[in-house]
Amino acid sequence: MNSETLDTSIRYLKGVGAAREKMFAKLGITTLRDLIGYFPRAYEDRTLFKRTNDLVIGETVCVVAMAATAPQLSHIRKGLDIVKLKAVDEVGTLELTFFNQPFIKDAIKPGEMYVFYGKIEGTLIRPAMVNPLFEKQHVHDRAQDHDVASNKITGRIMPIYALTAGLSQKSIQSAALAALEKCEEDLPDILPENIVKKHELCRAGYALKNIHFPEDMKALELSRKRLIFEEFFVLASAMKLLKDGRKEKIGRALKLPQWDQFYDALSFKPTQAQMRAIEEAAKDMGAPQAMNRLIQGDVGSGKTLIAAACCYMTWKSGCQSAFMAPTEILAKQHFQSLSALLEPMGMHVGLLVGSMTAKQKKDIYARLSLGEIDLIIGTHALVSQGVSFRELALVITDEQHRFGVGQRSMLTEKGDSPHVLIMSATPIPRTLALIIYGDLDVSIIDEMPSGRTAIETYVVSERHRKRVYQFINKLALEGRQIYIICPMVEELAKSDDGAPESGIDPEAMPVHGRKSAEQADTASSDIPLKSAVEYHKVLQDEIFPNLRIELVHGKMASKKKDAAMEAFARGEADILVATTVVEVGVDVPNAALIIVENADRFGLSQLHQLRGRVGRGVHESFCILFSGAAGDQSRARLDVMRATGDGFKIAEEDLKIRGPGDFFGSRQHGLPEMKIANLATDMLILNQAQDAAHENLRSDPELKSPENRKLRAQIAQLFEINADRLN
Ligand code: ADP
Ligand code: MG
Repeated sequence: MNSETLDTSIRYLKGVGAAREKMFAKLGITTLRDLIGYFPRAYEDRTLFKRTNDLVIGETVCVVAMAATAPQLSHIRKGLDIVKLKAVDEVGTLELTFFNQPFIKDAIKPGEMYVFYGKIEGTLIRPAMVNPLFEKQHVHDRAQDHDVASNKITGRIMPIYALTAGLSQKSIQSAALAALEKCEEDLPDILPENIVKKHELCRAGYALKNIHFPEDMKALELSRKRLIFEEFFVLASAMKLLKDGRKEKIGRALKLPQWDQFYDALSFKPTQAQMRAIEEAAKDMGAPQAMNRLIQGDVGSGKTLIAAACCYMTWKSGCQSAFMAPTEILAKQHFQSLSALLEPMGMHVGLLVGSMTAKQKKDIYARLSLGEIDLIIGTHALVSQGVSFRELALVITDEQHRFGVGQRSMLTEKGDSPHVLIMSATPIPRTLALIIYGDLDVSIIDEMPSGRTAIETYVVSERHRKRVYQFINKLALEGRQIYIICPMVEELAKSDDGAPESGIDPEAMPVHGRKSAEQADTASSDIPLKSAVEYHKVLQDEIFPNLRIELVHGKMASKKKDAAMEAFARGEADILVATTVVEVGVDVPNAALIIVENADRFGLSQLHQLRGRVGRGVHESFCILFSGAAGDQSRARLDVMRATGDGFKIAEEDLKIRGPGDFFGSRQHGLPEMKIANLATDMLILNQAQDAAHENLRSDPELKSPENRKLRAQIAQLFEINADRLN
């Protein structure tokens, strides 16, 4: 493979030049490799040829015909020129009309043969095309032999690319064509030969050519399969390598405790899924390797119990646990519920958050290092310098995708290869979890504690606003509490450095900082966005002067934020106007209604998390989503929320719509973006590729053989951060 050609700049391609180079850069394309890796988002099939006596009105086809008359240009009025002519084949005629393309007059010569591509209009007696695409009839009629390098625009399947301002389909198409031609000899085949054979995959060169300019639909299918397989194969190989690297880490084998004391203290019976997760984690911690386990479960599925059980087991072995939550509010809630459960058993539970005084912190530091605290719960204040442990054997992080991988490891470094338990409330389809968290073992809690009632969900528009306000009033008078969620307008432009105090900003999630393509397409942009700050003022002053309304948003000082949250939690406010800071974990059982303004701007999984703030008590609960967008797609998307309360299903829908890159923001999970594979719909290939990757690694665990050289290089390149693990 000559990678040099692939790595040359697109600037040297015919027709690109300095100006276009800049526009291509906006699409992340600077080299020929990038361009060839920029796969079409759709295709236009221009391979259907018809004769003029066989046409169907409304069908889009190619017609081979001779220009029978000289094109007539008429200037109708300013800004309206029409060129008309008639074309004929052996069996009939086709009328052609071109609007505002006066040059056609000279481009089409009577007596010559052309291929016209367009939608059939007119009548069956006088069929017509308006503004058809056309070109001279190809020498080898009907594109029988596939020639990628040809500039043909009819008789082939044309790629449709995602565009950026200034670049036309045509310019990307011809650049892609030129790049493929130039790199013909160099298209990298990174899959080992035996795997290509075994899975009946086509060659990389064939796949790359055909993914851009498919010979026919079958070739496109084959090519797609090959490229998806390859993408998954690389990903699965990389993940397995990471996982195997980690397995060698020695850890401390903890004793399996007598569980009776623990289970007897519970006020409820654990679900089967909870029991299973506890067993899995306990088994891990009992082994002489460090546990690295993800507990995955929908909001309210009872993940905290798993954490509690693990802390209990650690304590019974005479060791300490640390539990890190993404916000102070959450840390305090965990502290309250876990100390209530574990202290009566004899455990000492402590809290460490940024807002504590220096003296309080020092006291905690001392007790931690002496081993007087068995379980410390806190924010990322836990990773600060002063914190040291006597015997840290378990590290738990809640909502892990909000922590950088770095922060997690800073905490584990405070122990001697402690066991690690990660809890994620974002339900991800299992296969995806295995890929994304490929270097972790996964326990999935797929069962809800009994007795939960479904949250009634409505998608409404501005028209219903009055009624919604009446409903708020009614519930508030009944003593219930209400959340009103707004996107944080001023946050959209905010830089990346997160919340001032904790360094972790739940609102720095990618979902609403960036519009997905789908949202950009459908949500009409003129819906006024409700800024939490202004909205709070309007609600309090004008709409509900009778109710007590608190406000929290990510930009508030952490103390104020917590004060407002806690006031709401204590029932001292009827309404909490909030940004998505409340998305994670907070527990106010008296809250029975959540309203989400501009719901179109949120990801489905995020809406599901938000909805999980209600329905946590005995009260019948409701979720109202305000949708401003008229687009059907947007509405259909929100309807998923109405149709199901199953976080896994919702996540899967989300994944289909937005792809995994947006799912967490690639920054968080550190995975390369999937170019062609869809983690939700290409599951079958994913499974095959994963099996193949594992088999391949069994025979060559470090990918050292010549067969695996390119694969290894590719992994090193894609997973830059982890390159050291590959050496
Ligand atoms: P999450 O998975 O969202 O973190 P929590 O652990 O906070 O869920 O649990 C949600 C609520 O359900 C808590 O009040 C908890 O005490 C309760 N709970 C947990 N497990 C059970 C169970 N098996 N039966 C009944 N209630 C439970
Ligand atoms: Mg939780």
